[in-house]
Amino acid sequence: MANEHPRALIPALCRQFYDLGWCTGTGGGIAIRVDGIIYMAPSGVQKERISEADIFELDLDGQVLKAPATPGLKLTECSPLFFNAFRQRGAGAVIHSHSIEALMATVHFDTVFRVSHVEMIKGLRGYGFYDTVEIPIIANTARECELADSMAEAIDANPQADAVLVQRHGIYVWGKDWQQAKTQTECLDYLFRFADRMIQSGRSPIDVP
Ligand code: ZN
Repeated sequence: MANEHPRALIPALCRQFYDLGWCTGTGGGIAIRVDGIIYMAPSGVQKERISEADIFELDLDGQVLKAPATPGLKLTECSPLFFNAFRQRGAGAVIHSHSIEALMATVHFDTVFRVSHVEMIKGLRGYGFYDTVEIPIIANTARECELADSMAEAIDANPQADAVLVQRHGIYVWGKDWQQAKTQTECLDYLFRFADRMIQSGRSPIDVP
């Protein structure tokens, strides 16, 4: 299962996320933790073209253990935000998406995104079809690293949520491993798309059918 190593997984997942519109324009990213080492995609690069030689290795304090073999790469500004989920929730992986669906969710909703009665809700940890999903929304800042404190507060205040939306910016989603983080990001993106269509057609996304 050599291709399951984070150094192979991160480039493969970034290509998928690029095609989904989650990490175009060099934005977005992913970090995976295995055996106490955090593997992270670099900053400001074409996310669909990164290779195993471009990945950073960090410890849980955020110190770089191993810089990429490719010279000149920088650690991403979202590094402290990834670490919020690793430290506060013991996450095994964190995905940052600039999906337009996530953006529209932050435009339609003020401080909390809500949706209920959708089959895909069952893909989120601890939620069933009849439950109302609640994802906190925090204000964006001029620099990504300045989001760290407000994101940390939102994580503590919303123990049921494995995600934080950022106004007109995107979303951070995590899980116990990369599979759960990916599943939850996909399910949330679907729910954001559903909510957008419901609102566009004049209905509430928490309508009971
Ligand atoms: Zn971002």
